[in-house]
Amino acid sequence: MSDYPHLLAPLDLGFTTLSNRVLMGSMHTGLEDKSSDFDKLAVYFAERARGGVGLIVTGGIAPSIRGWLKPFSGRLSMPWHVARHRKVTGAVHTEGGKVCMQILHAGRYAYHPLSVAPSKIKSPITPFTPAELSARAVESTIGDFVSSAKLAQDAGYDGVEIMGSEGYLINQFLVERTNKRSDDWGGTPEKRRRFAVEIVRRTRAAVGANFIIVYRVSMLDLVEQGQTWDEVIALAKDVEAAGATLINTGIGWHEARVPTIVTSVPRGAFTWVTHKLRGEVKIPLITTNRINMPDVAEAILARGEADMVSMARPLLADPQWVNKARAGKAASINTCIACNQACLDHVFENKRASCMVNPRACFETELVITPAARKKRIAVVGAGPAGLACATTLAERGHTVVLYDAAADIGGQFNMAKRIPGKEEFFETLRYFRQRIAETGVTLHLNTRVDTAALQQENFDEIVFATGVLPRTPSITGIDHRKVVSYYDVLTRNRPVGQRVALIGAGGIGFDMAEFLTQSHPSPTTDIARWSEEWGVDTSYSTRGAVTKPHPEPSERQVWLLQRTPGKPGEKLNKTTGWVHRAALKAKKVNMLAGVTYERIDDDGLHIRIGEAREVLPVDTVVLCAGQESNRRDYDAALAQGLKAHVIGGADIAAELDAKRAIAQGTRLAASL
Ligand code: FAD
Ligand code: NAP
Ligand code: SF4
Repeated sequence: MSDYPHLLAPLDLGFTTLSNRVLMGSMHTGLEDKSSDFDKLAVYFAERARGGVGLIVTGGIAPSIRGWLKPFSGRLSMPWHVARHRKVTGAVHTEGGKVCMQILHAGRYAYHPLSVAPSKIKSPITPFTPAELSARAVESTIGDFVSSAKLAQDAGYDGVEIMGSEGYLINQFLVERTNKRSDDWGGTPEKRRRFAVEIVRRTRAAVGANFIIVYRVSMLDLVEQGQTWDEVIALAKDVEAAGATLINTGIGWHEARVPTIVTSVPRGAFTWVTHKLRGEVKIPLITTNRINMPDVAEAILARGEADMVSMARPLLADPQWVNKARAGKAASINTCIACNQACLDHVFENKRASCMVNPRACFETELVITPAARKKRIAVVGAGPAGLACATTLAERGHTVVLYDAAADIGGQFNMAKRIPGKEEFFETLRYFRQRIAETGVTLHLNTRVDTAALQQENFDEIVFATGVLPRTPSITGIDHRKVVSYYDVLTRNRPVGQRVALIGAGGIGFDMAEFLTQSHPSPTTDIARWSEEWGVDTSYSTRGAVTKPHPEPSERQVWLLQRTPGKPGEKLNKTTGWVHRAALKAKKVNMLAGVTYERIDDDGLHIRIGEAREVLPVDTVVLCAGQESNRRDYDAALAQGLKAHVIGGADIAAELDAKRAIAQGTRLAASL
């Protein structure tokens, strides 16, 4: 008997059967944009198909040039585009998988001057004003969707997903916010949804009965003037009648000011809306967002909230996710922690997507882990993210590995990160590495501060130093005052913090510390009802778009977050998550000050100057979050003694260090030794 009977049950679609209830949701990787990258894309999908996923959906492919997300992004609109897609379908089918191609027309979200939309209204997140589609152009755009679906069928896809959510073109037709038309395509809810329904109806007519059509309904627009719940139901019914096989859930337009997938969103925070639609249509419903582990997915299906679950990033993090669940090895799953750092952030920076916890994602043909030609004895000093990735990859390749850490547990700084409200997922990465250490046979010595003399006696073939960083202590008059503590003191030694607090340094850790000090405990990030209230998600769905006024829980502390550099604090935070952190702290009334000179710390508080203005912040505690310096004393000593030594992670370079770099560097070094 499986641990996940609902999740692993087949789904009979009449003309075809999916092997289980896991859909790999659409994710742009950057590999679908150039024909020359399709071999890599095929290997990437093949690895996920081999991992047992029931149905794969590709990243969004435009049905026309005007529908491009950005210039020269992936498109299937000409017969000569078909050959490259056959590489993907062939590779997936060889592994026994099934794959649908997502057809995505960006509409006014396009990042190019040829963009079109139902009405000439610029989006707040793109610089281009779209041209209004004429009635004839609406017809030809529907034709573009249909011919793209037909070409996808020629390319061997098992079906298509028609992207009707997230604020893209079809979604733009559905609401008055972006559709001011008074012709046959606007003016009433029926006319506004005609575009979506005609696309499905004409696609079904063109592809015949035995081809999957997934339609992604925007069930929660999360923007003002979005759809009402009755409009969502009517759309779902019409789409079903028009010939859709499955309905997938879309949550939030890209311009919505409610976070929908970042790590601080509670797991399964939006499945209630798919549940609400159940019973209104007969075709299977797929639910989505912040589902990352089998027990979460199983519980959602067992409660009858949906027929399938969609996961995109979790399959990037671990292609073997489904096979591991099937084998009862959920503890071995490399869990997606919803950080966005290597996937979505990369896409927005026009870089190839990958994964922070799995640097092989989308680099399957380039970062290859092969058995070592010569087995060696290797020491890894430091069991933070860099050392953990390196040690376990080395052991996987057949080396004998001894891993040392001075602390009582593995994880390095992740043990601080996991204590931040909204970063509870970091526990999963530590669980995963604990399991990997056991599975790969790494010998672990905790509570062991290593020095080079001891290492020399052990006669290792190679030594990897992953000794991380040390918090920086800035030189400010009064830095030794009893009210000064470092983030390290607070997060690892539980040093008490007063009611009025100044944070020196507004980088990633300064922001995290501000959230730690202003959130109530336990934080709402693990409680869907409290979290929805805090961000203004109307779970009663009595408002258009299901958005209402946010009600943040007030902070018990008064906090100042300070930086010396001029400009907006938090400007350098990650692209897709920084706005969430800034909004969260604004809601807690944190005072964010830039261009600050620190003059001194004394019994009165922190004396600062901004330009010519002097001020005393009357704080009880000053927390130092002023960056870090590399801890490479041991590495330098090893080099001086002529040992064969390598250095990775923060010990290598502290500036702009993050776990993405630490894990990737550790894995790459291990693949090469
Ligand atoms: P570390 O994690 O510093 O690990 C070094 C290890 O070496 C430690 O366990 C230490 O005990 C051990 N060690 C040192 N010297 C010795 C010795 N002589 N003998 C034995 N052991 C030794 N990064 C992100 O990418 N995203 C985030 O969201 C994020 N959030 C964070 C939140 C907080 C509060 C903090 C503090 C950090 C956060 N980081 C985040 C940063 C991230 O944790 C670091 O970039 C990462 O941990 C660096 O990995 P590392 O392996 O190089 O070093
Ligand atoms: P950081 O991002 O480099 O920020 C350090 C802060 O300290 C800056 O605000 C800097 O601003 C200030 N500072 C530097 N030197 C100072 C000095 N001598 N005196 C006073 N202030 C000084 O480093 P961090 O916040 O410690 O974070 C470490 C790494 O962890 C980061 O690189 C980050 O990538 C990673 N991290 C990531 C996340 C995430 O969510 N992705 C979260 C936490 C941490 P001024 O120089 O302007 O004062
Ligand atoms: Fe998940 Fe982060 Fe990996 Fe993206 S980079 S797949 S969010 S763990």
